[in-house]
Amino acid sequence: MNRIEQYIRDIQDFPKNGILFKDIAPLLQDHKGLSACLSELKAMVPDGQIDKVIGIESRGFLFGTMLAKRLQSGFVLARKPGKLPYKTIAQSYALEYGEDAIEMHIDAIQKGDRVLVHDDVLATGGTAQAVCKLVETLGGEVVQCNFIMELKALNGREKLLDYDVQCVLSY
Ligand code: AMP
Repeated sequence: MNRIEQYIRDIQDFPKNGILFKDIAPLLQDHKGLSACLSELKAMVPDGQIDKVIGIESRGFLFGTMLAKRLQSGFVLARKPGKLPYKTIAQSYALEYGEDAIEMHIDAIQKGDRVLVHDDVLATGGTAQAVCKLVETLGGEVVQCNFIMELKALNGREKLLDYDVQCVLSY
């Protein structure tokens, strides 16, 4: 068993029937889990400067910020529509039923920035793919998409074939 796995709590039927929610609260609560997870995320990052880490709302903000500090990078918020106060750029993406969108501030990425995209869970990959498109629209380069865990049955990697995708855990 990976040393992180013991800190991931499965919650059946949350937030809806049929969803097995992967809860990282126990991982954050225990300093050994938190430190081990941060070390594993950092170890996956390739050598070379990372200018910005992007955290995807909302659990991606947690380790994303800590990772940025460890990598000596800046940190950028990718948020649901209407949450960011300054001028934004948006990218929509398909859900199983309907559509959603993700936004970043227009000055979040500079041309040529080397960017790492981070979230806690890679599920269908739609959100991370939309964030990668925003990075590229703003002239940045996605160096890696990294996640604490992937839910393999949902094939999120297929939406991220153009990128280096790394996950600490795989379910
Ligand atoms: P995705 O389907 O990859 O676009 O994921 C959408 C968002 O929902 C991401 O921020 C994931 O972290 C989150 N998410 C999706 N499925 C789960 C799950 N089973 N447990 C916890 N978070 C999830």
